[in-house]
Amino acid sequence: MTDSFHCEQIPYSVLAAEYGTPLYVYSQQAMTAALNQYQQAFAALQPLICYAVKANSNLSILRHFARLGCGFDIVSRGELQRVLTAGGDAKNIIFSGVGKSCAEIEWALKQNIRCFNVESLPELERINTIAARLDKIAPISLRINPDVNAHTHPYISTGLKANKFGIAYQDAIAAYQLAATLPHLQITGIDCHIGSQLTDLSPLVEALERMLLLVDKLAALNIHLEHIDLGGGVGIVYQNENVPDLVTYAAAVKRLLAGRHLQLMLEPGRSLIGNAGTLLTTVEYIKHGEEKNFVVVDAAMNDLMRPSLYQAYHAIVNASQTSADELTADVVGPICESGDFLAKDRTIAAKAGDLLLIKSTGAYASSMASNYNTRCRAAEVLVNGAEYKLIRQRENLTDLLSPEKVCL
Ligand SMILES: *Cc1c(COP(=O)(O)O)cnc(C)c1O
Repeated sequence: MTDSFHCEQIPYSVLAAEYGTPLYVYSQQAMTAALNQYQQAFAALQPLICYAVKANSNLSILRHFARLGCGFDIVSRGELQRVLTAGGDAKNIIFSGVGKSCAEIEWALKQNIRCFNVESLPELERINTIAARLDKIAPISLRINPDVNAHTHPYISTGLKANKFGIAYQDAIAAYQLAATLPHLQITGIDCHIGSQLTDLSPLVEALERMLLLVDKLAALNIHLEHIDLGGGVGIVYQNENVPDLVTYAAAVKRLLAGRHLQLMLEPGRSLIGNAGTLLTTVEYIKHGEEKNFVVVDAAMNDLMRPSLYQAYHAIVNASQTSADELTADVVGPICESGDFLAKDRTIAAKAGDLLLIKSTGAYASSMASNYNTRCRAAEVLVNGAEYKLIRQRENLTDLLSPEKVCL
């Protein structure tokens, strides 16, 4: 019964009163339903679905996905530690990222993760050297840049020639040939990730077609792959986007993989958690500026960076039975930056003290939070039916200040 006033069966106002604001609230049922959509659409292909931890790395959320059978896509040693702490299985962890350090590679090898998604030739050499020292064989996949345009925001478009990610398409065969000569590597797969918040299926399908051309060329060179990893998931609805249909996506993948013995892997993040999260914030002031109105709230860009970073849109709903008149305003936080806004030019009825819900803030929201302006990061609550639990306590100033030393 999630509506404007409830997360599942719990009124948002109850959670705000108990834990204060800003507060992240997640619907466990929404997470489960989002994963079920992937599992059902792709059922015939029995994919390994590796939740992209960076979307939201809260330990309880990771545990929930682990219990539902997910693997995990990580991009740092810290994320690896989170997955293991949450009860995830190292055998289902894949390690992505363009800048894996020696220490990170060593640690991941010792944990016997499933695969390194390698992004460059020097990384191949580095992994081989470390694996040799540890007397191990490192399973690797090469992240290939298929050079397709995902038509998404430039900051989250990753599959173009100009991006820092992946190995250039025309260099892919040579990279595999190099990998095949390195004795402490075991080539297991191929992967790509062309971008996030994709609203169109065709680039995903085009990327897969281009990857399969490589798979065939490699087979002719006696390099046989076990898996193909198509990277992140589809986009979600923040406003009125047309998002790709997973059944259609799965049908296209199934058709292209037919007759091949390739295990499918997927790395969705946003689409598993994005719409399951809501950021609760309280209106501090209504301010009538010279040219604009401002709804000043107690959440800010340090809690939710997406509007500032990507000009992202998040719907905002007033969860109080407000008596206020509608106005057109920017919804802004207390941080001393003009870039500190959560919404621009919204028509909203709000007065000081009202509780606002910033919708679709499950992904790339709390995981991107910072302490800018010495603000404590928000608490997080997980709702399941009529139950709810605090899954991250609000940071306090001792947490913030204790790593620092006054040495003068
Ligand atoms: C961020 C990322 C993902 C997750 O992308 P979503 O759009 O959130 O599904 C998957 N794989 C890699 C390599 C990523 O960097």
